[in-house]
Amino acid sequence: MAGNYDIFIIGGGAAGTSAALTCLNRGKTVAVAANPPETESLYKAEAVTNYPGLPSLTGKELSLLFRRQLEESGAELISGRALSVLPMGGSFGVAVENDFYTARAVILAAGITREKLYLGEAELLGKGVSYCATCDGMLYRGKTVAVVGGGEEARRDGDFLESIGCKVLRFEENGPYEILGEARARALVYKGEEHPVDGVFIIKDTVSVSRLVPGLAYENGGIVTDRRMATPVPGVFAAGDCTGKPYQLAKAVGEGNMAALSAVKYLDQLGKKG
Ligand SMILES: Cc1cc2nc3c(=O)[nH]c(=O)nc-3n(C[C@H](O)[C@H](O)[C@H](O)COP(=O)(O)OP(=O)(O)OC[C@H]3O[C@@H](n4cnc5c(N)ncnc54)[C@H](O)[C@@H]3O)c2cc1C
Repeated sequence: MAGNYDIFIIGGGAAGTSAALTCLNRGKTVAVAANPPETESLYKAEAVTNYPGLPSLTGKELSLLFRRQLEESGAELISGRALSVLPMGGSFGVAVENDFYTARAVILAAGITREKLYLGEAELLGKGVSYCATCDGMLYRGKTVAVVGGGEEARRDGDFLESIGCKVLRFEENGPYEILGEARARALVYKGEEHPVDGVFIIKDTVSVSRLVPGLAYENGGIVTDRRMATPVPGVFAAGDCTGKPYQLAKAVGEGNMAALSAVKYLDQLGKKG
């Protein structure tokens, strides 16, 4: 096991950074699974003119300021995608790429995530469909695999799969794709053409949150929470764009703060019971 924390935050953007700073202020140990700033919404904003106190910064400048503060905060920054959150009776196991962490509460701050899965993706996940090349690549040595995704990580993972002896077909467009197969994935369909494969690696910056945590509810593309940012899963909170519109920086930061306060309260109440 790679580490044990009070609170595990998925996403190091505005909401995740805000949540981490508040959890730390309240004396909790915090880990943040944080993709590079370039993957954040804020980084892409040409100019942010409605965030108080910082009137003339670009989104990129603001995003890099947030990241520096997070790096210097005392939170453990883990680079890579969180792939699953497993409830373990009072705590959670969080898989980030090949490593496994535990925490007593989780805050989802993953930004706008891809809820719409490709046809066949859910059915064949673990049966030839994978989200992690370094975890599962060795199973496909000498075989043909498709790597779906246009980002830097998809390129790196494609290179890695080639280096271990896979024949790699790269698909960098957004799709739509369909994965065919009964017991296992056998082909990827793109633009009406069927490509026979032994495996399909879907490498996006984000993982659909419904895949990430079982038991969440969704409405209008966002995770349902109460006013305290609590989800229906005890110990799991959510903040920022992943809870739905409006997609605004101040809302993300505010919800991150509220999710953190609620997670801290949840842990303190657990402590009293225990
Ligand atoms: C072009 C553009 C312009 C904008 N302009 C403005 C503006 O002027 N004013 C304003 O108020 N708002 C603006 N916004 C919106 C604002 O930037 C967002 O609402 C805010 O930044 C959302 O923050 P977040 O932390 O919720 O999500 P994000 O910033 O998207 O951060 C989420 C992070 O989590 C990571 N992540 C996702 N899944 C995982 C996983 N499984 N494991 C690890 N990490 C994961 C992502 O890669 C990302 O780094 C703009 C957005 C865009 C795209």
